[in-house]
Amino acid sequence: MKIVALFPKATEGETENNILDDQTALNLRPFLEEKGHELVVLKNGEEDLDKHLKDMDVVISAPFYPAYMTAERIEKAPNLKIAITAGVGSDHVDLEAASKHDISVVEVTDSNTVSVAEHIVMTTLILVRNYEEGHHQSEDGTWNLTKVTNHAFELQNKTIGIFGLGRIGRLVGERLKPFDVNIQHYRRSSQEDTDFSKYVDFDQLVETSDVLIITSPLTPETDNLFDYDTISRMKDGSYIVNCARGKIVNKDEIVQMVKENHIQGYGGDVWYPQPAPADHPWRKMPRNAMTIHYSGMVIEALYRIEEGVKNLLTDFFEEKPFPEKDVIVNGGQITSKSYAKNDKK
Ligand code: NAD
Repeated sequence: MKIVALFPKATEGETENNILDDQTALNLRPFLEEKGHELVVLKNGEEDLDKHLKDMDVVISAPFYPAYMTAERIEKAPNLKIAITAGVGSDHVDLEAASKHDISVVEVTDSNTVSVAEHIVMTTLILVRNYEEGHHQSEDGTWNLTKVTNHAFELQNKTIGIFGLGRIGRLVGERLKPFDVNIQHYRRSSQEDTDFSKYVDFDQLVETSDVLIITSPLTPETDNLFDYDTISRMKDGSYIVNCARGKIVNKDEIVQMVKENHIQGYGGDVWYPQPAPADHPWRKMPRNAMTIHYSGMVIEALYRIEEGVKNLLTDFFEEKPFPEKDVIVNGGQITSKSYAKNDKK
């Protein structure tokens, strides 16, 4: 079989720990070649992908550096049977088109949930404490204390709202609780409180949270959900942390709301498209705590991703069912509860 993979470029001198790059390629080459399969690791990003559509059987890519499998590309890939996400979050694949063409979409659920939850906790503190301005001045040689403190607060007693409380959201809540915060959440799959947070409806979550943390998948329902209308209902001086997907937040309207000081800070690691263009407005947005998309790509997570991708490939080659938790699309249907349209609102 022909397996096509897109991984980030290896950086000279920075390869001793990385395995999710175009050199080590999750150690998939020996794994696949000893079974008689061909691995093609794309060298020129998505550009090369189009050349292989006509005869590839499997596509593998990571959300950090995705191969966007649009409906148009799926149409041109008659042999494609499975799209594997080397990580969590499969919105880079057109799930409706994959269902229509009976292509399975699977991911390595839970491979990097702790990594992302830690990043979210870090980003929350960076924003609320106005760390970026303080750090910036330490490098710049300046000492303008009041410029930092004008936007520096404690996290204690703040209301944290988690939108889309699932695996990552739960870990975030558990980790933030010891800061003596009030935690509330909204998710569409259940209206239950948890041991660390209270269920509220979407409007209450938006209108009463000091820090709104987005941890839902990107779906047609969540695409652009945090636009001007939603964000303008948030409290003055509140914050948004988004390590879920860039497109859930309106690119230009959040910049406007931060510039107007309605939102005191925005942070996270996800953009659209990825890699984000050099002139993406979030790169220079005031009081941002953005990083490039690496929260779920730390080294421990990469080894879990390697193991998970190999297990999914083995199941595929041996025609065994995939673990239910890893399946987004199978048998011509979107089966994942987090992505399916008919989930409870
Ligand atoms: P999960 O499936 O365990 O949880 C998602 C939660 O969102 C579920 O509770 C679901 O009910 C809820 N949800 C879905 N649609 C909703 C809607 N319209 N309104 C309200 N709630 C909704 O997933 P997870 O493992 O916690 O991951 C969540 C997302 O985080 C992934 O889909 C992915 O996009 C993103 N992620 C990012 C990184 C990163 O490196 N930044 C890494 C992993 C995952």
